[in-house]
Amino acid sequence: MSLYNLNTSISYLKGVGPNRADLLKTELGIHTFGDLLNFFPNRYIDRTQFFKINQLQQNYSEIQIIGKITNIKTVKQKRGSRLVATFRDETGFMELVWFRGIKWIKDAVKINTPYVVFGKVNSFNGVVTMAHPEMELLETYKKSLRTAMQPIYASTEKLTNKGISNRLVSKMIQHLFKELGLEFKETLSKSIIDNLDLISKSEALFNIHFPKKQELLTKAQQRLKFEELFFIQLQLIRKKIVRKAKIKGFNFEKVGEHFNNFYKNKLPFDLTNAQKKVLKEIRKDIGSNAQMNRLLQGDVGSGKTIVALLTMLIAIDNGFQAALMAPTEILATQHYNSLVELLKGMNISVKLLTGSVKVKERRILHAALESGELDILIGTHALIEDKVKFNNLGIAIIDEQHRFGVAQRSKLWQKNELPPHILVMTATPIPRTLAMSVYGDLDISVIDELPPGRKEVKTAHRYDANRLSVFKFLKEEIAKGRQVYIVYPLINESEAMDYKDLMDGYESISREFQKPDYQISIVHGKMKPADKEYEMQRFIKGETQIMVATTVIEVGVNIPNASVMVIESAERFGLSQLHQLRGRVGRGAEQSYCILMTSFKLSNEAKIRLNTMVETSDGFKIAEVDLKLRGPGNIMGTQQSGALNLRIADIVKDAQLLKTARKFAIDLLTVDPILKSPENIFIRAAYQELSKNSTIWSNIS
Ligand code: ADP
Ligand code: MG
Repeated sequence: MSLYNLNTSISYLKGVGPNRADLLKTELGIHTFGDLLNFFPNRYIDRTQFFKINQLQQNYSEIQIIGKITNIKTVKQKRGSRLVATFRDETGFMELVWFRGIKWIKDAVKINTPYVVFGKVNSFNGVVTMAHPEMELLETYKKSLRTAMQPIYASTEKLTNKGISNRLVSKMIQHLFKELGLEFKETLSKSIIDNLDLISKSEALFNIHFPKKQELLTKAQQRLKFEELFFIQLQLIRKKIVRKAKIKGFNFEKVGEHFNNFYKNKLPFDLTNAQKKVLKEIRKDIGSNAQMNRLLQGDVGSGKTIVALLTMLIAIDNGFQAALMAPTEILATQHYNSLVELLKGMNISVKLLTGSVKVKERRILHAALESGELDILIGTHALIEDKVKFNNLGIAIIDEQHRFGVAQRSKLWQKNELPPHILVMTATPIPRTLAMSVYGDLDISVIDELPPGRKEVKTAHRYDANRLSVFKFLKEEIAKGRQVYIVYPLINESEAMDYKDLMDGYESISREFQKPDYQISIVHGKMKPADKEYEMQRFIKGETQIMVATTVIEVGVNIPNASVMVIESAERFGLSQLHQLRGRVGRGAEQSYCILMTSFKLSNEAKIRLNTMVETSDGFKIAEVDLKLRGPGNIMGTQQSGALNLRIADIVKDAQLLKTARKFAIDLLTVDPILKSPENIFIRAAYQELSKNSTIWSNIS
């Protein structure tokens, strides 16, 4: 029986000691034996292959050669000196070079004794060299536990400088296995292991660190990736179940007069099947006794607003108030106007609350809200100020979810003794795999169908040099009565450069499109809300034909007659932003266009983004490309998620496995919600252990 277990401090491991233990803790977060055991290699080098010196070319990295050192000498140079050894095999010679640790190496090296050297090859003046090679006597190499597939562990500059090399880490892990043995607690049930043909936990742990061959490594990775994803899903789904059981919500029992009247007499079109499906999902939620917490995804133009309105009508039918929150004043105003229009002739009171509502008006509004006289309140952040008190808020709908923090969301909850139902609407399509990992505890609805009759926006990429022909095209479209957006990047509000670009652009457009034939609106973030609104209104009313803007128009604005979107410096925008912007056009009956303007100089990534935009208008496909380009941590709205701090799995590459893991987690919890069945005893123990202390779990929102 070993004195050690997984919780033993790493400083007790042979070869570690207090100093190295400190480094391991601060640099890699390794505190215990268990942490080190679960510190998996990043990659592996195939050390089954040996090279001969006469096969070497420049820039071979990480190769190994067997040979002997025949000569070693110190060479003085301008600053310090270097150690140079001549290394030979039967095909030729090369040089091994050291710049540090010279004295130590010179003493330790054995002349004319076979070594295995390993490292990156370079060539200087026709001589092949390897700097700071890893070296091992051939004899020792043959005897070592180290395997053909050599694991490479993550490291940091500090660790390297303090001499904690990859080889040393490998050694530590060898000691670890010697101390702990080869048997580790199983964490999955027999049925899952059999079902997916997985190897055992013990086998997986051994083979992830010491794979003898590729097949075993693949098996080990498969098992450990599955396990990681499975336990995250288990946690997320458990959380959802608990939330549904614990957080009581208002029960909107009936669909009443307002809803039915609107549906029969006012609805200006038939709902798409996707809208009907989503509405059904929502109705099921709000008609149960649990609080709804649902994310509604739908591409730009898919018709989320009407779903929001119908949902609010159900709340009103049940005697409750409803709130709709938008990220910008322009959007809130637009929602307000279209809702007022839609609800004309119905006995429902709607008000708008934004930063620019005057104090006096605001007071009246507050009073009406508190007395319950007001049915629907639409607004910006102003909605969640402390002074705003609802009489009985039944549902809060948040448009464009990524603009609001979670803290703000929960603030909305506190207006009542019971939390209102929450519906978060987003036009940023989140790839399924990402949604599963980040929002796995929310319910998700998707509107995956556009209203009928939409024409796909024709998208083209043009270089700045073709500007004249682009202007000509714009004039033709304007002559047909269309309106045009010209958007400039504004990556950083305070970036003076960006404003200069915008203003320069505005000037040259004004020269090209002169009054009185052409009228131009301009909108940007530094303008006063009232001025913005004025310019916006001129465009909406069709008094201006061109809207020059920064990305303030990114979200939600709906002007069907605007059918051309020109995006300047399109290479500076991310994919999701480009997609959002393009969504501003294609809302009317006319053919719409999106023109992506760039300079000739483009990075490879920018080229991929532009091509993707030209090739597809499917928001989910675009989001998948975005995820692949930028990795999960950079996708809008997911940065804070701990569910993305994965040890070994990769939600992009292991998407299929993730789906499998989620399915198994759901199936398991459906049958055994509190993991009490004897066959799930290992899962239960592992789950409890993970929930207790691992960092992966602590910051799942
Ligand atoms: P988004 O999902 O981007 O918020 P909107 O709700 O603004 O989309 O809807 C975009 C446009 O499509 C609006 O003009 C709306 O009236 C219209 N629309 C929504 N649903 C339908 C439908 N089922 N049939 C026809 N037009 C629809
Ligand atoms: Mg919208």
